[in-house]
Amino acid sequence: MEYQNILTTCIYCGCGCPLYVQILDGEIVGVLPSKEHPISRGQLCIKGWNATAFVYHSDRLKTPLIRRGDSLEEATWAQALGLVAQRLATIRDESGPDSIGFLTSAKCTNEENYLLQKLARAVIKTNNVDHCARL
Ligand code: SF4
Repeated sequence: MEYQNILTTCIYCGCGCPLYVQILDGEIVGVLPSKEHPISRGQLCIKGWNATAFVYHSDRLKTPLIRRGDSLEEATWAQALGLVAQRLATIRDESGPDSIGFLTSAKCTNEENYLLQKLARAVIKTNNVDHCARL
């Protein structure tokens, strides 16, 4: 048996509580709070205690899906991102940059949120950027 505690950050809100993901023989088996961290101080809320519940959930999407008519078809990341880029460019060119808005999430890291606003401002040329924390 191989057991590991891997320190990471809860993905569910901007508090960013640190937590240990417990791994047994390569599978996630639980979560523990960090006692040392000044925010969580050995505690997690119910979302933190279940932060890894989605990993093995049967409904979890593991590949991008592209809608074709009434059905969703599996696609590669290159296909999905290529389609998104193409559609965003078309909408921007036909309706103007401010016809597009970007919503980011507290579930993203600061770096991911920074990159999304950079995409909005530098590539699409809109300041329409908001965040779920303001909803
Ligand atoms: S444990 Fe709760 S309070 Fe802490 S980051 Fe996760 S969701 Fe937020």
